[in-house]
Amino acid sequence: MTAKPIDSQHSNQMPPQAVMLQMISGFWLSRAIYIAAKLGIADLVKDQPQTAADLAQSTGTHGPSLYRVLRALASAGIFAEDADGRFAITPLAATLQTDVPGSLRAFATVELGEEHYPAWGDLMHSVKTGEIAFDHVFAMPIWQYYAQNPENAKTFNDAMSGLTSAINEVVINSYHFSSISKVVDIGGGHGNLIISILKANPNIKGVLFDQPQVVEGARGRIEEEGLTDRCEIVAGDFFESVPSGGDAYILKWIIHDWNEEQSIAILKNCHQAMVDNGRLLLVESVIPPGNEPHLGKFMDLNMLVMTGGRERTEAEYRALFEAAGFRLTKVVPTPSPMCVIEGVRA
Ligand code: SAH
Repeated sequence: MTAKPIDSQHSNQMPPQAVMLQMISGFWLSRAIYIAAKLGIADLVKDQPQTAADLAQSTGTHGPSLYRVLRALASAGIFAEDADGRFAITPLAATLQTDVPGSLRAFATVELGEEHYPAWGDLMHSVKTGEIAFDHVFAMPIWQYYAQNPENAKTFNDAMSGLTSAINEVVINSYHFSSISKVVDIGGGHGNLIISILKANPNIKGVLFDQPQVVEGARGRIEEEGLTDRCEIVAGDFFESVPSGGDAYILKWIIHDWNEEQSIAILKNCHQAMVDNGRLLLVESVIPPGNEPHLGKFMDLNMLVMTGGRERTEAEYRALFEAAGFRLTKVVPTPSPMCVIEGVRA
């Protein structure tokens, strides 16, 4: 089963109007994917194909309408309908199963559901004012919203974990952690990255640092992995301070959430906490120059509407490092849109 091209890889033979039409209607597909993700359709059909009527019964939805959504999805390679009107799993649909490595179900639910989607609907507000569209729609910053809405926060953290597990391996294979003895994961969420680093490097000790309500969600995983002795869990606020004594501070998808002033404050706290010859490691997408397609260019819009942060170029990271007392030493590419940006104390 192959995916139909939607807004990328469009063939050169297609007239511009046809390509543009696909691009414009991209959100129709996105929203249909949301329905499947939220209702857990991929889990329901993973062992056995089912009709829309059966699926509607299990999900408390309107069968004929659900059928139309599934038929549209199947036209893009997400589920396949057989001659008896039963929908089966496909490789694309399987990415929306809950318990597969690198599951995108939570990400689809978060990105296309209750917070990100309304904020994107108000992108014009950000463009007109430079302000954060999310804050305009919800009258509070996203992190406060998650603190007040634990269910949504859990899905967000699951979404980060799902994406992280896909990226972890490439990060670990691209950057050499072997000479490090204690790595502190700042804003480490539910701990997926630190767990992967510790499992791949048995001599390293780790610290997972995040907000109190978030790190609690990591404790069980760390115990299950048998890493309780090697991984300390610390709750706190990275604008106040971060755990001291590490020789590597890794921040994955943290700095892109914040503006220059806030980013410098976080980095200065890492500077203060690390040992003299410590290393700063950011895992972020680095925006390449020119017009080439890059996920970071759209993630950057996600940051614009959601957090007031941004995706940055190498020159922008260099300047940020300098302002916080670091010297950027190298940008290590990975076979993904993410890079490891390394710095040492200047
Ligand atoms: N590093 C993880 C999570 C990235 S999401 C990953 O790559 O999957 C950003 C994280 O920053 C969230 O887990 C959020 O709880 C955390 N965060 C936001 N504000 C924070 C603060 N003031 N102090 C500590 N952590 C914070």
